[in-house]
Amino acid sequence: MQNLSCAPSAVAINTATLGHILDGHGAGWSPEQVIDACAARGFAGIAFWTRELNGRAVEIGERTRSAGLRVTGLCRPPYLVGPNAPADQAESLKGLLETIDVAAELKAESLTVVVGGVIPESRSIVGSLNAVADIVARAADHAASGNVRLALEPLHPVYAGDRSCLVTVRDAVDMCNRIGHSHVGLAVDVYHVWWDLTLAEQLQRLPSDKIFGFHICDWLAETRDILLDRGMMGDGIADIRGLRKIVENAGYSGPSEVEVFSAGNWWLRDPDEVLDTIVERVRTVF
Ligand code: ZN
Repeated sequence: MQNLSCAPSAVAINTATLGHILDGHGAGWSPEQVIDACAARGFAGIAFWTRELNGRAVEIGERTRSAGLRVTGLCRPPYLVGPNAPADQAESLKGLLETIDVAAELKAESLTVVVGGVIPESRSIVGSLNAVADIVARAADHAASGNVRLALEPLHPVYAGDRSCLVTVRDAVDMCNRIGHSHVGLAVDVYHVWWDLTLAEQLQRLPSDKIFGFHICDWLAETRDILLDRGMMGDGIADIRGLRKIVENAGYSGPSEVEVFSAGNWWLRDPDEVLDTIVERVRTVF
């Protein structure tokens, strides 16, 4: 008997895997092409990026569901704090609220939130995290009214300067519990947490329904670019199966989302080949 947990229906495809998040990368497939290719292979769903929607969120969401797929997520609001965020936190809140509205139109199950780096003049991780918690807490009711769950994603500490002052699952669980809202939870990404031996212990401190996403790829032993050289599952050194078990033991039962940023390898290939490879890796590695 086939093990359904190792079938394509156990995973969703994040369109970043096809190079869609940066100009000049990937094969330039339309959302419709991605939807049809994912449906044909029996994947569970798709997570889109805002830049692909171009005002067509409602249409693309409906098209995805009518193809038998879930819209598992939307990536992502502008950074809330840090050097690449608006200087004014009211503007950050506005950007978050606007992206929540897009996620609601798309009927995405969750909105992945990457919070932004340390506020440069503050030189304070704690102060930056406090600002993030404040902004997210103020957006939480709006998210709930749109039926959008906010998935806070802790990033690997190497990104603390410019992309995420939220760098450990410990801090993310603390923030989530502190905000204490039904629609504020976590996204756990293999790339960011594979090294963390406290993952299981930290997730046990979280209510069991608060993991809103599990992102998978692999950590290449020789990583050439910390942002755009992620590995396909099975090509690196992360214990993906073990990490998945930890996340599922902590209460997560949704699909695992394949998110491979790979400018020098997978983004150069035909998307059909990339998706076929994922089907094969899910069966053999996952
Ligand atoms: Zn991720």
